[in-house]
Amino acid sequence: MEEIKCIGILTSGGDAPGMNAAIRAVTRAAIFNGLKVKGIYRGYKGLYTNEIEDFKTENVSNIIQRGGTILKTARCKEFMTPEGRKVAYDNMVKAGIDALIIIGGDGSLTGARIFAQEYGVTCIGLPGTIDNDLYGTDTTIGYDTALNTIMECVDKIRDTATSHERLFFVEVMGRDAGFLALNGAIASGAEAAIIPEFSTEFDQLEDFIKNGFRKSKNSSIVLVAESELTGGAMHYAERVKNEYPQYDVRVTILGHLQRGGSPTANDRILASRLGVASIEALMEGQRNVMVGVQNDKVVYVPFSKAIKNDKPIDRDLVGVLRELSI
Ligand code: ADP
Repeated sequence: MEEIKCIGILTSGGDAPGMNAAIRAVTRAAIFNGLKVKGIYRGYKGLYTNEIEDFKTENVSNIIQRGGTILKTARCKEFMTPEGRKVAYDNMVKAGIDALIIIGGDGSLTGARIFAQEYGVTCIGLPGTIDNDLYGTDTTIGYDTALNTIMECVDKIRDTATSHERLFFVEVMGRDAGFLALNGAIASGAEAAIIPEFSTEFDQLEDFIKNGFRKSKNSSIVLVAESELTGGAMHYAERVKNEYPQYDVRVTILGHLQRGGSPTANDRILASRLGVASIEALMEGQRNVMVGVQNDKVVYVPFSKAIKNDKPIDRDLVGVLRELSI
């Protein structure tokens, strides 16, 4: 097995709070273990355009508390093509990088998997996405912070919803996964969540109206996961206007504010643990795995599993939400 002396680190795809904590952890753990580190800017784009810089421990000072990513992130069309990946590979070799640590979501890890297969490059992935939609890890870097942001926003919406006795649909991110909507609803005491996982099973609006709206309350908040499968919050507001015109309905789309902010303690700790674990994985000779956590223990998940499988939503949570929204 080829000895690894120098790693390249990049953040790719959608940004997530805690990515900086992960960059810091990977960089410091690598240096601690005698490896060289190169920071690659703008995800795969920087590998393609050769935006690569030597990273020392000072490069990652004072960033654990900052949202976003100091390495920037991007989507890179060129990396989707064999020609683009060839350019990226040549730049990587020129920079003396023996292995890549990729912090990103499903798409970024798919890219890593293809790159690893094509060129025999060693890649280790860290789950960095607010959506929590990667299989094989209980949680992802950024998810807890986004969840807390949603909770704080919904608390504020509750004040105005109650004053006016309104029904609010609050759209949250999630990209075809209902984790943020469902747990955000539980955390903020919302009445219901409309999630993509159930979009083909039953009419979630009817279910909500039937099960609880205004039985005993003077306001209702429903979190809706942004997804083509749900149709989003506007879709449900329109439906209520048409089907239940007696209700005073409003929509709030939380949008990109869910991606920002200082990471929570949980996200910082997760990012730090996974960053260290990614270097341990390399030292142990692991290749092409995502480092995740299951039952609070670090695990290695082959890319093929992390990407291909849909992460199931815990159906007990739906029961919790329903029981508590009477
Ligand atoms: P995320 O990692 O947040 O899911 P994207 O799906 O946008 O974000 O993917 C980020 C980047 O990963 C893409 O811009 C592209 O460069 C790379 N990527 C995604 N899918 C592939 C693929 N099938 N082949 C090669 N590269 C890919």
